[in-house]
Amino acid sequence: MVLDMQGTIGFIGVGNMGAPMAANLLKSGLPVLVFDRNPAAVDKLVKLGARAASSPQEMGETPGVTAIMSMLPSTDHVADAYEGPQGLLKAAGGLQPSLLIDSSTILPTYTAELAARIATYSMLAPGARKVAGAPGPVFVDAPVSGGVIGAVAGTLTFMCGGSAAGVRAAKPLLQLMGKAVEHLGDPGAGQVAKICNNLAMAIQMAAVSEALALGAAMGLDPAALTQVFNSSSARCWSSQVYNPVPGVLPDVPSAHEYRGGFNAGFMSKDLRLALQLAGSAKQPLPMGERAAQLYQQVLDASGGEPVDFGAIYKFVYNGRPSNGGVKGN
Ligand code: NAD
Repeated sequence: MVLDMQGTIGFIGVGNMGAPMAANLLKSGLPVLVFDRNPAAVDKLVKLGARAASSPQEMGETPGVTAIMSMLPSTDHVADAYEGPQGLLKAAGGLQPSLLIDSSTILPTYTAELAARIATYSMLAPGARKVAGAPGPVFVDAPVSGGVIGAVAGTLTFMCGGSAAGVRAAKPLLQLMGKAVEHLGDPGAGQVAKICNNLAMAIQMAAVSEALALGAAMGLDPAALTQVFNSSSARCWSSQVYNPVPGVLPDVPSAHEYRGGFNAGFMSKDLRLALQLAGSAKQPLPMGERAAQLYQQVLDASGGEPVDFGAIYKFVYNGRPSNGGVKGN
Protein backbone atom coordinates (compact mmCIF):
# COMPACT_ATOMS: atom_id res chain seq x y z
CA MET A 1 0.00 0.00 0.00
CA VAL A 2 1.23 3.52 -0.77
CA LEU A 3 0.61 6.03 2.00
CA ASP A 4 0.81 9.83 1.85
CA MET A 5 3.19 9.43 4.79
CA GLN A 6 5.25 6.58 3.29
CA GLY A 7 8.26 5.94 5.52
CA THR A 8 9.00 4.52 8.93
CA ILE A 9 6.22 4.73 11.52
CA GLY A 10 7.22 5.37 15.13
CA PHE A 11 5.07 3.65 17.76
CA ILE A 12 5.19 4.72 21.44
CA GLY A 13 3.47 2.37 23.92
CA VAL A 14 3.20 -1.24 22.75
CA GLY A 15 1.07 -2.76 25.50
CA ASN A 16 -2.20 -4.69 25.11
CA MET A 17 -3.51 -2.37 22.39
CA GLY A 18 -0.36 -0.85 20.91
CA ALA A 19 1.39 -4.19 20.29
CA PRO A 20 -1.23 -5.66 17.93
CA MET A 21 -1.70 -2.27 16.25
CA ALA A 22 2.04 -1.99 15.57
CA ALA A 23 2.07 -5.65 14.46
CA ASN A 24 -0.60 -4.83 11.87
CA LEU A 25 1.57 -2.01 10.51
CA LEU A 26 4.46 -4.48 10.19
CA LYS A 27 2.15 -6.97 8.44
CA SER A 28 1.28 -4.23 5.93
CA GLY A 29 4.98 -4.02 5.06
CA LEU A 30 5.75 -0.70 6.80
CA PRO A 31 9.00 -0.30 8.75
CA VAL A 32 8.15 0.34 12.43
CA LEU A 33 10.31 1.88 15.16
CA VAL A 34 9.01 1.21 18.69
CA PHE A 35 9.54 2.67 22.13
CA ASP A 36 8.03 1.51 25.41
CA ARG A 37 9.16 1.96 29.02
CA ASN A 38 8.87 -1.79 29.37
CA PRO A 39 11.77 -3.52 27.52
CA ALA A 40 9.86 -6.84 27.37
CA ALA A 41 7.06 -5.14 25.41
CA VAL A 42 9.65 -3.75 22.95
CA ASP A 43 11.33 -7.17 22.55
CA LYS A 44 8.07 -8.77 21.41
CA LEU A 45 7.76 -6.27 18.55
CA VAL A 46 11.45 -6.54 17.66
CA LYS A 47 10.91 -10.30 17.23
CA LEU A 48 8.19 -9.42 14.70
CA GLY A 49 10.58 -7.21 12.72
CA ALA A 50 10.37 -3.76 14.36
CA ARG A 51 13.41 -1.69 15.35
CA ALA A 52 13.76 -0.27 18.86
CA ALA A 53 14.31 3.39 19.80
CA SER A 54 15.81 4.42 23.12
CA SER A 55 13.38 7.34 23.67
CA PRO A 56 10.59 9.29 21.97
CA GLN A 57 13.16 12.07 21.43
CA GLU A 58 15.37 9.70 19.43
CA MET A 59 12.33 8.69 17.39
CA GLY A 60 11.65 12.32 16.61
CA GLU A 61 15.26 12.76 15.41
CA THR A 62 15.45 9.62 13.25
CA PRO A 63 15.57 10.38 9.50
CA GLY A 64 12.92 8.49 7.53
CA VAL A 65 10.35 8.51 10.36
CA THR A 66 7.34 10.26 8.83
CA ALA A 67 4.59 9.60 11.39
CA ILE A 68 4.33 8.72 15.08
CA MET A 69 1.53 6.81 16.80
CA SER A 70 1.15 6.71 20.60
CA MET A 71 -1.01 4.31 22.64
CA LEU A 72 -0.40 5.08 26.32
CA PRO A 73 -2.39 4.60 29.53
CA SER A 74 -3.31 8.15 30.55
CA THR A 75 -2.81 11.91 30.14
CA ASP A 76 0.39 12.04 32.24
CA HIS A 77 1.99 9.28 30.16
CA VAL A 78 1.20 11.10 26.92
CA ALA A 79 2.55 14.36 28.39
CA ASP A 80 5.75 12.52 29.34
CA ALA A 81 6.15 10.94 25.89
CA TYR A 82 5.64 14.26 24.10
CA GLU A 83 6.91 16.92 26.50
CA GLY A 84 9.00 15.04 29.12
CA PRO A 85 12.81 15.33 29.41
CA GLN A 86 13.29 12.80 26.57
CA GLY A 87 10.00 13.54 24.87
CA LEU A 88 9.30 13.69 21.17
CA LEU A 89 9.16 17.49 21.13
CA LYS A 90 12.73 17.68 22.48
CA ALA A 91 14.04 16.44 19.09
CA ALA A 92 17.17 18.43 18.34
CA GLY A 93 17.12 20.30 15.02
CA GLY A 94 13.35 19.91 14.55
CA LEU A 95 11.08 16.93 14.09
CA GLN A 96 11.58 14.34 11.37
CA PRO A 97 7.97 13.09 11.60
CA SER A 98 5.34 15.60 10.51
CA LEU A 99 2.25 13.59 11.49
CA LEU A 100 1.74 12.88 15.21
CA ILE A 101 -1.24 10.70 16.16
CA ASP A 102 -2.27 9.89 19.73
CA SER A 103 -4.71 6.97 20.14
CA SER A 104 -4.65 6.86 23.96
CA THR A 105 -7.85 7.85 25.80
CA ILE A 106 -6.94 11.06 27.66
CA LEU A 107 -8.21 14.47 28.74
CA PRO A 108 -9.42 16.41 25.66
CA THR A 109 -8.33 19.77 27.05
CA TYR A 110 -4.72 18.52 27.30
CA THR A 111 -5.01 17.15 23.74
CA ALA A 112 -6.20 20.53 22.44
CA GLU A 113 -3.41 22.37 24.31
CA LEU A 114 -0.77 19.96 23.02
CA ALA A 115 -2.02 20.31 19.44
CA ALA A 116 -1.86 24.11 19.75
CA ARG A 117 1.68 24.01 21.22
CA ILE A 118 2.84 21.71 18.40
CA ALA A 119 1.28 23.95 15.75
CA THR A 120 2.75 27.13 17.32
CA TYR A 121 6.22 26.16 18.50
CA SER A 122 7.37 22.92 16.84
CA MET A 123 9.49 22.92 13.73
CA LEU A 124 10.17 20.25 11.14
CA ALA A 125 13.75 19.14 10.52
CA PRO A 126 15.18 20.34 7.19
CA GLY A 127 14.15 17.86 4.48
CA ALA A 128 11.39 16.26 6.57
CA ARG A 129 8.40 15.09 4.57
CA LYS A 130 5.45 17.48 5.09
CA VAL A 131 1.76 16.67 5.50
CA ALA A 132 0.03 17.99 2.35
CA GLY A 133 -1.48 21.38 3.14
CA ALA A 134 0.44 21.91 6.40
CA PRO A 135 3.78 23.72 6.69
CA GLY A 136 4.74 22.25 10.11
CA PRO A 137 4.07 19.18 12.24
CA VAL A 138 0.40 18.23 12.68
CA PHE A 139 -1.21 16.53 15.68
CA VAL A 140 -4.32 14.33 15.45
CA ASP A 141 -6.14 12.69 18.37
CA ALA A 142 -7.50 9.30 17.30
CA PRO A 143 -8.69 7.25 20.29
CA VAL A 144 -10.19 3.87 19.47
CA SER A 145 -13.09 1.58 20.13
CA GLY A 146 -12.95 -2.18 19.55
CA GLY A 147 -10.67 -3.38 22.35
CA VAL A 148 -7.84 -5.88 22.07
CA ILE A 149 -9.93 -8.13 19.81
CA GLY A 150 -10.41 -5.25 17.35
CA ALA A 151 -6.74 -4.26 17.63
CA VAL A 152 -5.64 -7.81 16.72
CA ALA A 153 -8.19 -8.15 13.91
CA GLY A 154 -7.45 -4.66 12.54
CA THR A 155 -11.10 -3.65 12.91
CA LEU A 156 -10.80 -0.69 15.30
CA THR A 157 -12.92 2.44 15.00
CA PHE A 158 -10.81 5.63 15.20
CA MET A 159 -12.48 8.83 16.46
CA CYS A 160 -10.41 11.73 15.18
CA GLY A 161 -9.95 15.34 16.19
CA GLY A 162 -7.68 17.69 14.26
CA SER A 163 -7.32 19.70 11.08
CA ALA A 164 -8.74 18.38 7.81
CA ALA A 165 -5.17 18.09 6.45
CA GLY A 166 -4.03 16.07 9.48
CA VAL A 167 -6.95 13.65 9.44
CA ARG A 168 -6.68 13.26 5.65
CA ALA A 169 -3.01 12.26 6.03
CA ALA A 170 -3.74 10.00 9.03
CA LYS A 171 -6.62 8.10 7.44
CA PRO A 172 -4.72 5.66 5.16
CA LEU A 173 -2.40 4.79 8.05
CA LEU A 174 -5.26 4.28 10.51
CA GLN A 175 -7.08 2.12 7.95
CA LEU A 176 -4.23 -0.39 8.24
CA MET A 177 -5.35 -0.91 11.86
CA GLY A 178 -9.08 -0.26 11.72
CA LYS A 179 -12.28 -0.43 9.73
CA ALA A 180 -13.69 3.06 10.44
CA VAL A 181 -12.06 6.48 10.70
CA GLU A 182 -14.46 9.24 11.79
CA HIS A 183 -13.51 12.96 11.87
CA LEU A 184 -15.42 14.65 14.71
CA GLY A 185 -13.92 18.17 14.71
CA ASP A 186 -11.01 20.18 16.08
CA PRO A 187 -8.20 18.74 18.28
CA GLY A 188 -9.75 17.03 21.32
CA ALA A 189 -13.04 16.22 19.54
CA GLY A 190 -12.00 12.58 19.07
CA GLN A 191 -11.32 12.31 22.79
CA VAL A 192 -14.72 13.79 23.63
CA ALA A 193 -16.41 11.21 21.37
CA LYS A 194 -14.46 8.34 22.95
CA ILE A 195 -15.27 9.46 26.49
CA CYS A 196 -18.99 9.79 25.63
CA ASN A 197 -18.93 6.29 24.09
CA ASN A 198 -17.37 4.79 27.20
CA LEU A 199 -19.76 6.67 29.51
CA ALA A 200 -22.67 5.03 27.68
CA MET A 201 -20.93 1.64 27.67
CA ALA A 202 -20.20 1.78 31.41
CA ILE A 203 -23.82 2.55 32.25
CA GLN A 204 -25.11 -0.02 29.77
CA MET A 205 -22.93 -2.78 31.27
CA ALA A 206 -24.13 -1.86 34.77
CA ALA A 207 -27.77 -1.88 33.61
CA VAL A 208 -27.51 -5.30 31.93
CA SER A 209 -25.65 -6.74 34.94
CA GLU A 210 -28.23 -5.37 37.37
CA ALA A 211 -31.19 -6.78 35.43
CA LEU A 212 -29.59 -10.19 34.79
CA ALA A 213 -28.60 -10.46 38.46
CA LEU A 214 -32.18 -9.71 39.56
CA GLY A 215 -33.52 -12.35 37.16
CA ALA A 216 -31.01 -14.90 38.47
CA ALA A 217 -31.89 -14.05 42.08
CA MET A 218 -35.53 -14.74 41.18
CA GLY A 219 -34.63 -18.15 39.77
CA LEU A 220 -34.26 -17.43 36.03
CA ASP A 221 -31.28 -18.78 34.14
CA PRO A 222 -29.29 -15.72 32.93
CA ALA A 223 -28.73 -17.46 29.56
CA ALA A 224 -32.50 -17.74 29.03
CA LEU A 225 -33.05 -14.17 30.20
CA THR A 226 -30.30 -13.00 27.84
CA GLN A 227 -32.12 -14.68 24.96
CA VAL A 228 -35.22 -12.70 25.90
CA PHE A 229 -33.25 -9.44 26.08
CA ASN A 230 -31.64 -10.11 22.71
CA SER A 231 -35.00 -10.42 20.98
CA SER A 232 -36.56 -7.61 23.03
CA SER A 233 -36.01 -3.97 23.85
CA ALA A 234 -33.12 -4.55 26.33
CA ARG A 235 -30.87 -5.88 23.54
CA CYS A 236 -27.48 -4.11 23.43
CA TRP A 237 -23.74 -4.77 23.08
CA SER A 238 -23.44 -5.79 26.75
CA SER A 239 -26.22 -8.38 26.43
CA GLN A 240 -25.43 -9.68 22.95
CA VAL A 241 -21.69 -9.41 22.32
CA TYR A 242 -19.96 -9.02 25.69
CA ASN A 243 -22.33 -10.63 28.17
CA PRO A 244 -21.02 -10.31 31.76
CA VAL A 245 -22.50 -13.58 33.04
CA PRO A 246 -20.14 -16.59 33.14
CA GLY A 247 -21.47 -19.39 30.95
CA VAL A 248 -23.66 -17.32 28.61
CA LEU A 249 -21.14 -16.62 25.81
CA PRO A 250 -17.84 -18.34 24.92
CA ASP A 251 -14.64 -16.35 24.28
CA VAL A 252 -15.57 -13.25 26.27
CA PRO A 253 -13.86 -12.17 29.52
CA SER A 254 -16.77 -13.44 31.68
CA ALA A 255 -15.99 -16.94 30.32
CA HIS A 256 -12.40 -16.63 31.61
CA GLU A 257 -12.89 -15.26 35.13
CA TYR A 258 -12.95 -11.72 33.70
CA ARG A 259 -9.32 -11.93 32.54
CA GLY A 260 -8.29 -9.97 29.42
CA GLY A 261 -10.78 -7.57 27.90
CA PHE A 262 -11.20 -3.94 28.98
CA ASN A 263 -9.67 -3.28 32.36
CA ALA A 264 -12.04 -1.88 35.01
CA GLY A 265 -9.18 0.49 35.89
CA PHE A 266 -9.37 2.03 32.41
CA MET A 267 -13.17 2.26 32.71
CA SER A 268 -12.77 4.10 36.02
CA LYS A 269 -10.26 6.45 34.39
CA ASP A 270 -12.63 7.12 31.47
CA LEU A 271 -15.53 7.85 33.86
CA ARG A 272 -13.32 10.29 35.78
CA LEU A 273 -12.57 11.98 32.44
CA ALA A 274 -16.33 12.13 31.70
CA LEU A 275 -16.99 13.72 35.11
CA GLN A 276 -14.21 16.26 34.51
CA LEU A 277 -15.75 17.21 31.15
CA ALA A 278 -19.21 17.40 32.73
CA GLY A 279 -17.86 19.69 35.46
CA SER A 280 -16.43 22.15 32.94
CA ALA A 281 -19.53 21.98 30.69
CA LYS A 282 -21.93 22.20 33.68
CA GLN A 283 -23.68 19.10 32.33
CA PRO A 284 -25.38 16.85 34.92
CA LEU A 285 -24.25 13.19 34.79
CA PRO A 286 -26.20 11.44 37.57
CA MET A 287 -25.78 7.97 36.02
CA GLY A 288 -22.12 8.62 35.26
CA GLU A 289 -21.46 9.63 38.88
CA ARG A 290 -23.07 6.43 40.17
CA ALA A 291 -21.28 4.30 37.54
CA ALA A 292 -17.92 5.78 38.65
CA GLN A 293 -18.66 4.64 42.22
CA LEU A 294 -19.69 1.15 41.07
CA TYR A 295 -16.56 0.57 38.96
CA GLN A 296 -14.43 1.83 41.85
CA GLN A 297 -16.16 -0.89 43.92
CA VAL A 298 -15.08 -3.44 41.26
CA LEU A 299 -11.48 -2.23 41.53
CA ASP A 300 -11.51 -2.38 45.34
CA ALA A 301 -12.99 -5.89 45.32
CA SER A 302 -10.55 -7.24 42.73
CA GLY A 303 -7.61 -6.60 45.06
CA GLY A 304 -5.30 -5.02 42.49
CA GLU A 305 -5.61 -7.87 39.95
CA PRO A 306 -6.43 -6.63 36.43
CA VAL A 307 -10.08 -7.47 35.80
CA ASP A 308 -12.47 -6.83 32.90
CA PHE A 309 -15.15 -4.21 33.57
CA GLY A 310 -17.88 -6.88 33.11
CA ALA A 311 -16.82 -8.12 36.57
CA ILE A 312 -19.31 -5.54 37.87
CA TYR A 313 -21.80 -8.45 37.56
CA LYS A 314 -19.76 -10.45 40.07
CA PHE A 315 -18.38 -7.83 42.45
CA VAL A 316 -21.24 -5.34 42.67
CA TYR A 317 -24.31 -7.49 41.97
CA ASN A 318 -23.11 -10.85 43.38
CA GLY A 319 -24.56 -12.28 40.16
CA ARG A 320 -24.90 -16.04 39.71
CA PRO A 321 -23.40 -17.83 36.67
CA SER A 322 -25.65 -19.40 34.05
CA ASN A 323 -26.65 -22.98 34.81
CA GLY A 324 -26.23 -23.74 31.14
CA GLY A 325 -29.70 -23.75 29.68
CA VAL A 326 -33.42 -23.15 30.01
CA LYS A 327 -34.98 -25.36 32.69
CA GLY A 328 -38.41 -26.93 32.41
CA ASN A 329 -38.37 -27.44 28.60
P1 NAD B 1 -1.38 -1.09 28.49
O1 NAD B 1 -1.15 -0.70 29.90
O2 NAD B 1 -1.53 -2.54 28.14
O3 NAD B 1 -0.19 -0.52 27.57
C1 NAD B 1 0.38 0.75 27.75
C2 NAD B 1 1.87 0.66 27.42
O4 NAD B 1 2.43 1.96 27.54
C3 NAD B 1 2.65 -0.26 28.37
O5 NAD B 1 3.39 -1.19 27.61
C4 NAD B 1 3.56 0.72 29.15
O6 NAD B 1 4.80 0.13 29.49
C5 NAD B 1 3.72 1.83 28.14
N1 NAD B 1 4.08 3.13 28.74
C6 NAD B 1 3.55 3.74 29.81
N2 NAD B 1 4.08 4.95 29.96
C7 NAD B 1 4.98 5.13 28.96
C8 NAD B 1 5.83 6.21 28.56
N3 NAD B 1 5.86 7.36 29.24
N4 NAD B 1 6.59 6.02 27.47
C9 NAD B 1 6.55 4.86 26.78
N5 NAD B 1 5.76 3.81 27.09
C10 NAD B 1 4.99 3.96 28.18
O7 NAD B 1 -2.65 -0.26 28.01
P2 NAD B 1 -3.62 -0.57 26.76
O8 NAD B 1 -4.65 -1.56 27.13
O9 NAD B 1 -2.76 -0.81 25.56
O10 NAD B 1 -4.37 0.83 26.62
C11 NAD B 1 -3.72 2.00 26.12
C12 NAD B 1 -4.76 3.10 25.93
O11 NAD B 1 -5.81 2.63 25.08
C13 NAD B 1 -5.43 3.59 27.23
O12 NAD B 1 -5.56 4.98 27.17
C14 NAD B 1 -6.80 2.90 27.19
O13 NAD B 1 -7.79 3.66 27.88
C15 NAD B 1 -7.07 2.86 25.70
N6 NAD B 1 -7.96 1.77 25.27
C16 NAD B 1 -7.77 0.50 25.74
C17 NAD B 1 -8.63 -0.51 25.31
C18 NAD B 1 -8.46 -1.94 25.82
O14 NAD B 1 -9.36 -2.76 25.57
N7 NAD B 1 -7.36 -2.27 26.48
C19 NAD B 1 -9.66 -0.24 24.42
C20 NAD B 1 -9.80 1.06 23.94
C21 NAD B 1 -8.95 2.07 24.38
